[in-house]
Amino acid sequence: MTKERIFLSPPHMSGNEEKYVQKAFELNWIAPLGFNVDAFEKEMCQYVGVKEAAAVTSGTAAIHLALILLGVGKGDVVFCSSLTFIASANPVLYQGAEPVFIDSEPDTWNMSPQALELAFQDSLKNGVLPKAVIVVNLYGQSAKWDEIRRTCEKYDVPIIEDAAESLGSVYKGKASGTLGTFGVYSFNGNKIITTSGGGMLLSNNYSAIREARFLSTQARDPAPHYQHSSVGYNYRMSNILAGIGRGQLEVIEDRVFARRSVFEFYKEHLGHLPGIQFMPELEGTFSNRWLTALTIDEKVCGVSAAEMLKILESENIEARPIWKPLHMQPLFKENKYYRHSDSESISEELFITGICLPSGSNLQKEDQVRIIHCIQNRINIETKEEMYL
Ligand SMILES: *Cc1c(COP(=O)(O)O)cnc(C)c1O
Repeated sequence: MTKERIFLSPPHMSGNEEKYVQKAFELNWIAPLGFNVDAFEKEMCQYVGVKEAAAVTSGTAAIHLALILLGVGKGDVVFCSSLTFIASANPVLYQGAEPVFIDSEPDTWNMSPQALELAFQDSLKNGVLPKAVIVVNLYGQSAKWDEIRRTCEKYDVPIIEDAAESLGSVYKGKASGTLGTFGVYSFNGNKIITTSGGGMLLSNNYSAIREARFLSTQARDPAPHYQHSSVGYNYRMSNILAGIGRGQLEVIEDRVFARRSVFEFYKEHLGHLPGIQFMPELEGTFSNRWLTALTIDEKVCGVSAAEMLKILESENIEARPIWKPLHMQPLFKENKYYRHSDSESISEELFITGICLPSGSNLQKEDQVRIIHCIQNRINIETKEEMYL
């Protein structure tokens, strides 16, 4: 008999979602826009401490809107973290602009400030500065924001914070998603809280978010008839899904706590194994630990990350490789890439050695023990340490 499947990051409802959805049914407000959308935006603003937010259909849509609001268009250059999900960069292509990819650094696995500086110096030489920089907080870990912001301010280029994976994380007292000119969250089914699909654009610039709402509802001019002077999109979140979001946001702190506990339990029982290293947490930052990520040094422990993934899969455990860096994607084979140093491409190393383990906030202890045993057995170490069950 095959063992029950353990998922990477399944949804975890609070039970209150249906209350808000039910309200929408009672009032027959089954539409994009509505009281749940307004309330979800307000509640998010209060939680993260930002002035305005627009709930949209996906994190990808939110990034797209941010690029439009920053005036990114045909032929423009946008710098973007390389070690991320494709959704960080796809909207750059929607705008006919060119992404240039920036490597990671080892302390956070996020954008390397020194690679970023190099990219800026090159741009300056060529006389074309980027229109924006997209900075990702990978798996919940904040990037080195002080350094990155200092550099971007020096060249006067705005930042889009792709916080799709880092809602609930904190950088030096500030909520993840509030550190750039625009912040982006995703509520896709696998994220720390979900609306099944959805996203949000945040900013302290009220008029920019008002413009985002306008653009995401087909850019309809204020006229008695249907009149349009600019390209619009159908990106607004539905009132039903926003109801799910409200129920989810109520428990965000619990979800962060649970994911961090999952991480700690893995680390406690696997951290001492030779060749295993967990994703770091930079001092002054607090990660939501959306996914527990670790690297496996094949030379030390005799098993590669790819082999470990196969072993886990054979046990019906859904683990995943680290994102394949975007500069390695066929889609971006012509795009420029700036590595951390002449001798190091950190994102490529992480891609080869890294895996993500099941990290759901509803992961059962006995399931986590099953995963830990599977890895311990394979690495087959001499240690006599007992697992408690
Ligand atoms: C999930 C994710 C997105 C996109 O969010 P969607 O809501 O799925 O469009 C963007 N960036 C990163 C880093 C993500 O993990």
